[in-house]
Amino acid sequence: MKKVKKLIKIDVDKCNGCRACEAICSAFHAEPKYSSSNPDRSRIRVVHDPLRDIFVPVYAGEYTDSECNGKNVYTVDGKTYDECDFCRASCPSRKLFRDPDSNLPLKCDMCEDEPPLKEPKCVEWCINDALIYEEVEEEVEEEEPTRPLEIEVGLEALVKQHGVKVVMDTLSRLGKS
Ligand code: SF4
Ligand code: SF4
Repeated sequence: MKKVKKLIKIDVDKCNGCRACEAICSAFHAEPKYSSSNPDRSRIRVVHDPLRDIFVPVYAGEYTDSECNGKNVYTVDGKTYDECDFCRASCPSRKLFRDPDSNLPLKCDMCEDEPPLKEPKCVEWCINDALIYEEVEEEVEEEEPTRPLEIEVGLEALVKQHGVKVVMDTLSRLGKS
């Protein structure tokens, strides 16, 4: 079975740290759309260290419930990047890619919309062409299953915020609709 995979390639040398991508991503995903802009809610974040000329845009990937063992420091073209700089995970070791209010993990959805956008908002707003959108067709065996872990984390955060009863009542109401 063929499936179209959507990718954003990143050219760190073209990124100047303007953070327009963070602003538009959070605005596009605000409720209602474009009603606010808060980089803490963005699904793309820019690792930002002007003194070392380091700017790395990273868009949010999967949630993970534990830290990894692969915290490496990389030196590329004479620049040394800190551990986790290239990581896309929403991970318990840092605040990145967590909604500041609900603590729910944030994940890039490639700006799903109806009708579909020509390209994701962060790509459109990056005037330096540091973000390059690509669609690649690839062979897959079957649809990836939804990760129950993400549902668990989401429910846990909602229970912490609203209490078990409100969450249970809401689920029960949704189940009947
Ligand atoms: S909009 Fe482009 S240049 Fe600006 S921070 Fe984001 S990736 Fe970098
Ligand atoms: S593709 Fe859309 S959801 Fe993903 S980081 Fe860019 S603006 Fe945010």
